[in-house]
Amino acid sequence: MSISAHILKALIILFGALCGLVPVASLAAPQPLTEGWEYRWGDIPFTAEGTPDWSLAQQPEQWHAIDFPSNPPGRNGQDQVWYRVTLPAGDWQDPVLYILSIDLIVQVWLDGENIYQYGTFDKDGRGKFEGWPWHKITLPESYENKTLYFRVFSDYTDIGLWGEVSLMDHSELILHILNNSLEALLVAGFSLLVALLALILSLLQGGRKTFTSIALFSLASSVMLLSESSASQLIVPDALMWDYLAAGSYFLLPVGLWLMLDQWLGGTRPPRAISVIWKLHLVYMLGALGLALTGVIGLSFTFPPFDALLLLSLFLMGLITVPRIRLMTKEQQVLVLACGVFSALLVADMAVAHGFMQWVQVPVGLGLLVFILAVVIISLRHYGMTQRALQELTVTLEQQVAERTEKTERLLQREKARAKVLAFENEKSREFAEVVAELQACANLDQAFQVLTEAMPRLCSPIKGMIYRRMACGGYERLALWGYGSALPDLHPVIETLEHMPPPVRLLAGSVEEAEAACRNCQGLVCFSINVEFMNYGPAPESLLLLDAEGISNSGHTEDGAARLMSSINLVVERIGVTLSGLSLKEDLHRFSYEDALTGLKNRRYFDQLFEHEASVALRKELPLSLLLVDIDHFKQFNDTHGHEAGDAALKAFAAILESRFRGSDVVCRYGGEEFVVILPASDIVGASERAEQLREAVRKETVVFEDKDLGFLTISIGVASWPGSTKKPEKLLKLADEMLYKAKAGGRNRVEAFPER
Ligand code: GH3
Ligand code: MG
Ligand code: MG
Repeated sequence: MSISAHILKALIILFGALCGLVPVASLAAPQPLTEGWEYRWGDIPFTAEGTPDWSLAQQPEQWHAIDFPSNPPGRNGQDQVWYRVTLPAGDWQDPVLYILSIDLIVQVWLDGENIYQYGTFDKDGRGKFEGWPWHKITLPESYENKTLYFRVFSDYTDIGLWGEVSLMDHSELILHILNNSLEALLVAGFSLLVALLALILSLLQGGRKTFTSIALFSLASSVMLLSESSASQLIVPDALMWDYLAAGSYFLLPVGLWLMLDQWLGGTRPPRAISVIWKLHLVYMLGALGLALTGVIGLSFTFPPFDALLLLSLFLMGLITVPRIRLMTKEQQVLVLACGVFSALLVADMAVAHGFMQWVQVPVGLGLLVFILAVVIISLRHYGMTQRALQELTVTLEQQVAERTEKTERLLQREKARAKVLAFENEKSREFAEVVAELQACANLDQAFQVLTEAMPRLCSPIKGMIYRRMACGGYERLALWGYGSALPDLHPVIETLEHMPPPVRLLAGSVEEAEAACRNCQGLVCFSINVEFMNYGPAPESLLLLDAEGISNSGHTEDGAARLMSSINLVVERIGVTLSGLSLKEDLHRFSYEDALTGLKNRRYFDQLFEHEASVALRKELPLSLLLVDIDHFKQFNDTHGHEAGDAALKAFAAILESRFRGSDVVCRYGGEEFVVILPASDIVGASERAEQLREAVRKETVVFEDKDLGFLTISIGVASWPGSTKKPEKLLKLADEMLYKAKAGGRNRVEAFPER
């Protein structure tokens, strides 16, 4: 008996004692009845009073000694037997005889009296199976040395008493039974717990076969142990019911076993026969119980065929598992081993039950316990491993989901940034198109730079920067500065030359790559040069756009944003350059169309337009307006004498004298050939005549030098006319001046003639 059993027994005794049920002091050990047994085959005829004819029963030659009152030799199909034993003396207060089991029904006689009966005997001394309970035969006080007779009927394979036959005190009996059943009860309880757990796990896992088979096997084991234990009768005193339960659960055991085996052999291709075998067992169980319950056969007869079937089943199990044992995992091997041990105990129990072995208490329950423990531990371990794997999988999945989400988030952010950049670029393109249109509408570069001065801060924001324009004297002058607030960068409003720009400023050659690199490396300003094409001297960096490098780097929002921006700025700068070049060329062309190529003075077309304008201004403002018409005397002769080139040089020199003499509001034009006209706004006839006279004098004193040769001096004739001094109609001034010139020529040349004549 295990330690726990001892403890439980002590507890039960203690509980019994406390309740006054068990007189502790009187407890004495049960005494097994192992000696003095005799048997006689056949029934003893009964007298008319319904008692055995004891005279016949006393004949000594009919009785034979036997070690234990079970299955006497020479049965020869007989189903009736009598056993007798002389009861020994004992110190019992309330003596009872305890018999573990009897095949099948019994009458007990003492002193000619029927003191106990189990089952019903017919008039022929026969009856039917009524279960295998344990028996308590109450003995009279004067039982000592008296002979106890057992009338037994059995049409079962066994006949007679079975298991333990002991004398004991009545009070001892319950404890004795509990003691005997303790192991089975403990294992049954444990099995039931396992069955419930397995059932829950099976339900949780959607009916997983592993747990279902464990649940079935454990439940069957639990019910079998409980119903086979002597204690079951204490719970419900219905032997037949317990026997049905025992049979049903016993017959179910191989079903559970095969189902489990099918799972364990999962990795080793289990034969299909397994599913046929367990179904066969199930069918047997249902069939046998059905037949017994309907009374077609006795329940006891369902056991021998089942035992044969079980033997075959276990043998097949061995045949299937042993060759595969090497293919199995360590755990499966342990399970198969435990299953083997349990099966061996089952077979041993069977052998005892059928009398092939002497009666011993085969520890089937313990075997079962070991087996179920192994199953549970391994199943739980597997369950744990599966859960861990699931957890790891969940973690991995969660990680993957998180990574994907992050990636999507990144993509989304990038797309947002890209959309922002595109929107920014679109907005800027639109603004820029407007600026270009404005620039194209400008008449000259000065106007264009006024437009740029206003537009660039708006166009470049939010990037801080400034724009410079090249000055006529060289160097650059700042036109605008934006975004710095009061924190002005360390740059002078005038930069001497490009080479003298302070260190943080880099001048870019214009390639996108260079610009990007500069943007990355330069902490200060990035410089873009706006190059303009001029007719006279080709391309020149007419303007500088300096932008905050950090602003360019940060404004991109995306990886390639800064590069895109740089390339966009380059395009803008280029486009501005092209537009300004167009303006510059237009300006040059315009200038050339009003300018005399040889002398650089305004030409006759210019004069015509300007004079019209000045005449209307004079009229409106009522200010005088004078005209001088100047002609070089005998210039043909000069040309003829010194050559045409000298003539050209003389004309240039004369033009220079004219320009030096007339500045400010006066305008000098070459009217054609060697004739020149001077518009003198706000000069009356007197002032104009004086100026004409001074000019004539100045020319006369200036000698013409060509190729280091002194070619002498030239003289000029001048006609002067003035409004309102000469005429009331300003448009007539030219005609009048011409008339005065003609007069001067006619008058001998080198003279001034004014109208009206003085
Ligand atoms: P007058 O005193 O009557 O004005 O005599 P003139 O010879 O100056 O006048 P005329 O009209 O007979 O001749 C004008 C000359 O001016 C003819 C031409 O050879 C010369 N001339 C006109 N334009 C140019 C020019 O662009 N270059 C040169 N070298 N000579 C020119
Ligand atoms: Mg002339
Ligand atoms: Mg002339």
